[in-house]
Amino acid sequence: MKNITILGATGSIGGSTLDVISRYPDRFRVFALTAHRQIQCLEELCRQWQPRYAVVSNEEDAIQLRQNLSDIPTEILSGKDALCDVASDAEVDMVMAAIVGAAGLLPTLSAAKSGKTILLANKETLVMAGTPFMKTVRENGACVLPVDSEHNAIFQSLPETVRQVMAKGDFYDSGSLKYGIQSLILTASGGPFLNTPLETFPQITPQMAIKHPNWQMGRKISVDSATMMNKGLEVIEACHLFNVDANMIEVIIHPQSVIHSMVRYADGSVLAQLGTPDMRTPIAFCLGVPERLNSGVTPLDFFSLNHLSFVQPDLKRFPCLQLAFDAIQMGGNATCVLNAANEIAVAAFLENHIRFDQIAQVVSETLSKNSSQADSDTIESLIDVDQTSRQYAQRLIKSFQAA
Ligand code: NDP
Ligand code: MG
Repeated sequence: MKNITILGATGSIGGSTLDVISRYPDRFRVFALTAHRQIQCLEELCRQWQPRYAVVSNEEDAIQLRQNLSDIPTEILSGKDALCDVASDAEVDMVMAAIVGAAGLLPTLSAAKSGKTILLANKETLVMAGTPFMKTVRENGACVLPVDSEHNAIFQSLPETVRQVMAKGDFYDSGSLKYGIQSLILTASGGPFLNTPLETFPQITPQMAIKHPNWQMGRKISVDSATMMNKGLEVIEACHLFNVDANMIEVIIHPQSVIHSMVRYADGSVLAQLGTPDMRTPIAFCLGVPERLNSGVTPLDFFSLNHLSFVQPDLKRFPCLQLAFDAIQMGGNATCVLNAANEIAVAAFLENHIRFDQIAQVVSETLSKNSSQADSDTIESLIDVDQTSRQYAQRLIKSFQAA
């Protein structure tokens, strides 16, 4: 029996995780569930799963929840420290890190510090603080399993030996082409605006942007997919997870989202992982590895696929992808700045405060004014960088609105 904490249980990944777990009541016990705003949903989940702990952000919500759930044994906690506590509790074996954004960093880090097996969906942790995070994983005997579908596909397509060392944050010698790995190929759907006329981009509404053609996801990552910032964040995520330079990563648009990513080898082989686009596949892989669990995902029907196509990304259409490459090139704290600016810009877009095409503008200007080459390899310094970049981006958005 494995005890699991689900950080972000009320979200899209949280729900898919619980769906897979529900198929294996003898294997997994839900130790803790966490939520931010969807308190009603958390209440229902607590009734269903009766976890040891449930965590919310505000104490007022906790008080209400304690009253509503007084008939079940679940203990209700609140605040950021409580998130870290349920991620590091001695009884926990696995932590699903599925809070969205920088808010996921500290609880995920807490799981790493206490040597847990981390099912990592929260890519922002690696974009903000990949170097110190992977160091913490290594030093504490933790294990990182990639939930993000592309990284999970690459993980599945790597040799077993590489998989074992990389999950522990250990380095394999990527520079010497050991194991014959030539490149990691990240596929991207291109999102809903792959073929939308560029001159209509300023009219794109949040409703249009969150309607992803292939995947059901939370609002923030859906907008990231529409700008293709998501692929930029994933390139950075892959650099840290697999310990490779960005020049070993190829990005290919594959609008059908059937090939979830690939590994190119020296002998000409390309290994790919395919499947119906459904996050329960990578989640089930991480929950079960080395065994394959039943995820409930509809089997891939080759005969209903019309064709598979591949397109080179257009960096003019998707300036956010270019900005992510720029941030990698800059080094230092740049990817942390990129992430902070993007979170603020996407939130502002979702609240109709800026236009879709202004997301890249906010990120670009924040990046150029706030990034520095200086080594910022401590979590504390990166949290400072995150905060100042957010403030800068917010001021910028205000100036756009005033203009
Ligand atoms: P959702 O928006 O659906 O869910 C986010 C979860 O985080 C919710 O449980 C939410 O609580 C919680 N949350 C939000 N803000 C805070 C906060 N400040 N403090 C604590 N908890 C918070 O997102 P997704 O499930 O789509 O994504 C989760 C992560 O997984 C993201 O990092 C995303 O990039 C990554 N990911 C997602 C994929 C997907 O298919 N959805 C694919 C690959 C990666 P509440 O709802 O109660 O407010
Ligand atoms: Mg992905």
